[in-house]
Amino acid sequence: MHDAPGTSLAQILFSREQRAAKQREWVNTHSLPLVSFTINMVGAIKKNRIAKVAFNKGHQAIVDTCARLNLTILKTDRVEADTGYELLLLIDTSDVHSLKRAMVEIEETHCLGRLFDIDVIGIDYHPLSRQSIDQPRRRCLICEQEAKSCIRQQNHSVHQLIKKMTELINACQ
Ligand SMILES: [Zn+2]
Repeated sequence: MHDAPGTSLAQILFSREQRAAKQREWVNTHSLPLVSFTINMVGAIKKNRIAKVAFNKGHQAIVDTCARLNLTILKTDRVEADTGYELLLLIDTSDVHSLKRAMVEIEETHCLGRLFDIDVIGIDYHPLSRQSIDQPRRRCLICEQEAKSCIRQQNHSVHQLIKKMTELINACQ
């Protein structure tokens, strides 16, 4: 594994701000929804083999799903920064809930879907929740609890999470 430089909190916050600004700009200009895709990485290193494999497979799955649903991707921006991989897509649709359902289906059924964080951002600039399409919240990678509560309570070590991610990658070829 090539070690990428570790990432500081300041860098992560700055990249989040930049991403949010880009999202606002695209929505403003086009009045269309966006798909924003990142990898759920743990620890300080956001750019490694696990993240890269997962990101490429996720990108492909999103493109394939859009093609299957006849959704045109009008614009693509792919960022490979030290703070992690980010994909932003502008989608030609007025049906954000169907788009959200299709993206949740990828997260739930793809062999690496549990590593994917695929947001659908509506023209009100807000990401749609899973509840808005009557889907349960995401579960943790390791146990059956809600992912958010495990992250907040730090229920699992970084080592444990990386091990689980590596197993998923190796099982998904
Ligand atoms: Zn857990």
